[in-house]
Amino acid sequence: MPHTPILDSELDLHSLICKNQFGSFFGVSQTVFDKVWQNLTADDGNSVVYISMEIGADPDVFHPIKDKLMDLEKTDSMDSDLKTFIKKILHGPQKIPCYGGGLGVLAGDTLKSFADCRIPVIAVSLLYREGYFSQIVDSKVGQVSQTVDWNPEQTPGLYLLRDPDDASEPLQIHIPFFNEYDQETMATAQVWMKMEVNHTLDFFVPELLLDFSLETNPAPIREAAGQLYNSQSSFIKAMQRRMLGTGIIPVLQALNISSHTLHLNEQHGVVVALQLIAEELHSSMHVTDISRATEKEILAAATTVAKRLVYTIHTPVKAGHDRFNKSVYAGMSHKSCRHILELLAKDDDSPNTYNFTSFAMRVNRTANSVSRLHRDVTHKQFPASAEKISAITNGVHHLTWISDARAEAFDAFTQLKNWRNDPGVFANIKELHNDSRFRTYLQRAWDKDSEILFDYVNQMLITHRNQMSSTWIDPPNHYSTIIDVDHRLDPSVFTIGFARRFSTYKRADLIFDNLDTLCSIITKNKWPVNFLFSGKAHPADEPGKSVIKLILDYQEELHSKSNGLANLIFIPNYDMNIAKMLVAGVHAWLNNPKRPLEASGTSGMKAALNGIPNLSIMDGWWVEGYHQGQTGWKFGYEGPVDEADLSESPEALLYAEDSASFYKILPQVLQEFYDDSAKSNFLDKAIMNLHLNIPIFNTHRMAAEYLRKYDLKLSPSLQEQMRGFADLYESDQ
Ligand SMILES: *Cc1c(COP(=O)(O)O)cnc(C)c1O
Repeated sequence: MPHTPILDSELDLHSLICKNQFGSFFGVSQTVFDKVWQNLTADDGNSVVYISMEIGADPDVFHPIKDKLMDLEKTDSMDSDLKTFIKKILHGPQKIPCYGGGLGVLAGDTLKSFADCRIPVIAVSLLYREGYFSQIVDSKVGQVSQTVDWNPEQTPGLYLLRDPDDASEPLQIHIPFFNEYDQETMATAQVWMKMEVNHTLDFFVPELLLDFSLETNPAPIREAAGQLYNSQSSFIKAMQRRMLGTGIIPVLQALNISSHTLHLNEQHGVVVALQLIAEELHSSMHVTDISRATEKEILAAATTVAKRLVYTIHTPVKAGHDRFNKSVYAGMSHKSCRHILELLAKDDDSPNTYNFTSFAMRVNRTANSVSRLHRDVTHKQFPASAEKISAITNGVHHLTWISDARAEAFDAFTQLKNWRNDPGVFANIKELHNDSRFRTYLQRAWDKDSEILFDYVNQMLITHRNQMSSTWIDPPNHYSTIIDVDHRLDPSVFTIGFARRFSTYKRADLIFDNLDTLCSIITKNKWPVNFLFSGKAHPADEPGKSVIKLILDYQEELHSKSNGLANLIFIPNYDMNIAKMLVAGVHAWLNNPKRPLEASGTSGMKAALNGIPNLSIMDGWWVEGYHQGQTGWKFGYEGPVDEADLSESPEALLYAEDSASFYKILPQVLQEFYDDSAKSNFLDKAIMNLHLNIPIFNTHRMAAEYLRKYDLKLSPSLQEQMRGFADLYESDQ
């Protein structure tokens, strides 16, 4: 493994400035930059384009370049080129709000692992000038959404690519759109690049973010360029997919990127396949009028194009499968494209819509689900494609999600020496299990992370109260009216964490379904409990928003019925930074979706990587991460699943059964935490999570499994390294 170059002088930092015809960048040497770029532009096409509607990789949770500067105490520089970069990296905003939840964070984590493992990949996504949304929470109103105030120009690590022919102008790509009369309008996008640089600063994965917000673009396109998952109308929604899908080939051409394989992270970008099929019909098969291509011709072209596509499906939930009314799609696409969609995006349930999930499922060389259980469900949903759908269980980027305190503890043990490069080393820590020094270090790290978390929460509660008079926002937490120097929330109290998007199937309010039962468990043995909740509901998701309101409404009653022993806190504006504090600072991570609707779930993996036991329904990844009680607890329905179980209607959500099951298991959990004779069980579970789950639920292993689908030619040493990760697990059992 190459090691970090020693950087100790201004001159050396200067060697991290790199350039090409598209601009100047900071973070890797020119040699590294050129090598990565050559790989991506080589004639052999031996690289992959990763396509995702959203990418979550906020620099405030993982930023190797900034860490390096801090290590060197380089907070300023005399050199003017360097000065600009350094100042921006150290003092610029630390968020890139172009993600909505798990899908985007997974994309970011995946790209970071590709960078760590030095796999030639480039990503394409969109840049959203208004981000997703900022969440304000008012106890009387519930969630209020605001546009995010951010400025890509000021954001460190984001570079606007320049026109190679005129460096004073940004690079522009031009994409045709059509109205229902097939009249053409050109839209223009500029291109931002973010580099996912690895922690040894010797490889990176570029992300290209297409920005359609230019003044010169037609109004609907500018509107669609504003906010991720804007669902004002199905036209805007379809337009965003169209912008991503048809932007891919032009941007790759403009940069000379030659990658043969295209990986669709969800079907959002599948319009790229449409474009490739049209091109195939036109250039290779010499069909002059595509709108009259025969079924046979289209199928032949689709078969050729499918050889380039790898497709990952992320959800069995119908709302996650894009379907657009044909008339809506006619307003942006040429009739020749619609002719192709008629055949390939046919929706058997509804003849007036194009089904883009079915389209993606038809046109790929291989498809995968994101867990084993999800594979079985997907096979039932798409029986005609079942044969080519395998499971590649999700992972998370261990360097992003393992807390600093945990990392410091791991660093103190020679057995774990190589953990940053190889999360598989944890498979060999059996001997540390009874090592009292290891146990002490781990417990201390856990306590420290709990303190960091509760400092944040207590401060937040006070701030909300203080802001009340100036903002007129009713603090989202009842506890803001209680907190004072003697009544701060206590980090040593058993704390359950729950944070994710508020979709109804995730049932955030499940465990409060019967407050009397819950409180009687708590008061009976005087076992105090903190519940820390966080998460956003899509602004158009009224049922999701009402679950947030319910959580707020339960607070006071829970507090009083438990004699103040139980406190439910809601942390507004969930993001990666809050996620990272939560998954390291709580004592158990709660996950209670309706089985089998959580295809994978990744927040629980983040907790597991920090040794935090999960308390979860047997759904998604937990079916694989639960090991007979060694890593946490299971509850709720775990029987067979079929099509009927995919229902999200309120009466099908199994509140009564699954909450009763939770109340049954809770006393045992609390006993383990509070009963001195059982207490060491908790640390045992932590260690078993490190031992059994880190080697598996990380994105290095996941990337290694994807590699088998990519058909890349890699150096023998790289192949061997990746085989090492993949050999630790077989998702598709
Ligand atoms: C990890 C993460 C998610 C995904 O959580 P799930 O358990 O998969 O629902 C969502 N949002 C943020 C900010 C995350 O970090």
